[in-house]
Amino acid sequence: MLSGTRLFLIGLLALLSALAGAPTAAAAQGFPAGSVCTALAPPDVNAAALARSTARWDCSGTRWKISGSKASLVRIDMTGQTPPPDSVLTTRLTRFNRLSLTAIGRDGTVSTREITPGDLRFSTTGWKMRMPLPSLKGDVAAYVLKVSGARHEGLLSDVRIAPPPDETSVGNAELVLAALCGMMLMPLVLNFGFYRVLRQPFALWHALVVFAMLVQTFVASGLVNRFASLSIMEISVLSSASLSVASIAASQFIATLVEPGMLNRTQLQLLHAMGPWMAVWTVYYLFAGGPLLPSIAPAYYVAFLPFIATLVWSMATAARRGSRTVWFQIIGWTPLIGMALVRIGSLLGMADAPMSLMTTQHLSLSFEILLSTLGAADRFMAIKHERDRALTQARVLESLAERDPLTGLYNRRGFEERYARLAKTGYDTMAVLDLDHFKSVNDTRGHAVGDAVLRAVALALMPDEDTIAVRLGGEEFLLLMRGADAAERAERRRQSIPARIAAEISGLERPVTASMGLVTGAPPMRFATLYTRCDELLYEAKSQGRNRTVQDTFSFDTVSGAQNTVVNLR
Ligand code: GH3
Ligand code: MG
Ligand code: MG
Repeated sequence: MLSGTRLFLIGLLALLSALAGAPTAAAAQGFPAGSVCTALAPPDVNAAALARSTARWDCSGTRWKISGSKASLVRIDMTGQTPPPDSVLTTRLTRFNRLSLTAIGRDGTVSTREITPGDLRFSTTGWKMRMPLPSLKGDVAAYVLKVSGARHEGLLSDVRIAPPPDETSVGNAELVLAALCGMMLMPLVLNFGFYRVLRQPFALWHALVVFAMLVQTFVASGLVNRFASLSIMEISVLSSASLSVASIAASQFIATLVEPGMLNRTQLQLLHAMGPWMAVWTVYYLFAGGPLLPSIAPAYYVAFLPFIATLVWSMATAARRGSRTVWFQIIGWTPLIGMALVRIGSLLGMADAPMSLMTTQHLSLSFEILLSTLGAADRFMAIKHERDRALTQARVLESLAERDPLTGLYNRRGFEERYARLAKTGYDTMAVLDLDHFKSVNDTRGHAVGDAVLRAVALALMPDEDTIAVRLGGEEFLLLMRGADAAERAERRRQSIPARIAAEISGLERPVTASMGLVTGAPPMRFATLYTRCDELLYEAKSQGRNRTVQDTFSFDTVSGAQNTVVNLR
């Protein structure tokens, strides 16, 4: 009974191992059905001949290799598959020197097609390119792709043979991407607004970051191919240049954005050095070749590591030192840095970064733009607030310096600063007034009452849009006026002084009057010249008995005082 069971089990195991071993035995003679194998060979190798035996091929599906001197080949086994007649070969968009496709028929016939730039079509929904298959009568046993000078293993690892996707109508993914690109335009406009107001370089650097990220998303998503028919070189240049410009501008942006004193000197120097560093690696990535080829993409991606390290170190220091604005950047950059590290890591592991990472990239870029824009706006508000406060303070100090604190009228300094401008805008009448026997007010009623009298005089002088009133010092005032009736208005003001003083201060022994020297019709001239003449006329008014005006209509003799028309208006 027991031995019977054992026999049955042994038999079953033998059968299973025979079944399991069958394909292995078959594969020893040929390629497994549906296998995708890769090989490196001299550039002039005959792809069809090479594809006849498995010896030179690696079918593990992991060892995709590009070389500066050899051609890389991919053999796609078509056993059991009949792709629709309009099928194409789709792979990752990658620059190359030469690419040919060979179809090998079941009957041994061979057809090869050299792919020309005109054969390539670029996807509008991803970082992909497709090319036509060589035509062959009868069933195809395998396709062989042979490429030399490929710049990325993805050209080998991402090969698919299938009908092209229908890209005539716009899909949802495209609409979302277009919306993301549109959203990125907003901060661009906003930044120019910030710069116009504050002239802070961070706004321009941020505009450049946004612009470069917009181009990167527009190109890397394939959306650009909806609008323009670019060559593979143009697409590659746009993509890597925009990525580098975004990194360069981002480091300058951080350096100019964070509050002063939040970064140390080394960090600022490193951030500034990121410009030339990234520029050199981008040129290397785009134009290096030959034996360096397999190392170009990894070296370029590794070049981003110092950039990321500098950024992380700088942001961490600024955060530790209490920067507010850097938190927007930290939150904004986290997904992007995470994605970049996955991309660099997968490239260094020689396994290709999954294509789905591109969607993550578009979303991370949009998120970074959103957060960094919020950060820029926040910093803008903070700087504007600081600046407005400083401006208000400066204005207060300025007005304090040009106003007389007792009466609120312009003081001599404030007035003299404005005089030249006023003289050119029709102010042609100047009057200098001096209170009569003012000293006795001080002597009898004290300085406080004297001060109140001076304030009352200021009220009587009533500055308006055609009248500038100034306290020159002590109990001496000045009026500068324009208009045909300027002399009468000045005289009315002088005459209103005693009543005004009496209304403000009760119990004065006698009215406090004022004497005035007045010049009308004066053309623009130096303040000192006109003032001196007014003062002379005032002196005359005083000597004639006070409480009166001595007026002089300007003539060219006025200044010399040779021919005065002395008018007593009392
Ligand atoms: P006159 O008619 O000749 O002009 O005689 P006066 O007394 O008005 O002129 P005087 O120049 O002799 O005196 C001016 C006085 O004005 C002397 C000074 O104490 C006083 N004074 C100057 N500035 C102020 C001030 O800010 N407040 C007060 N209360 N008095 C002042
Ligand atoms: Mg006086
Ligand atoms: Mg005086």
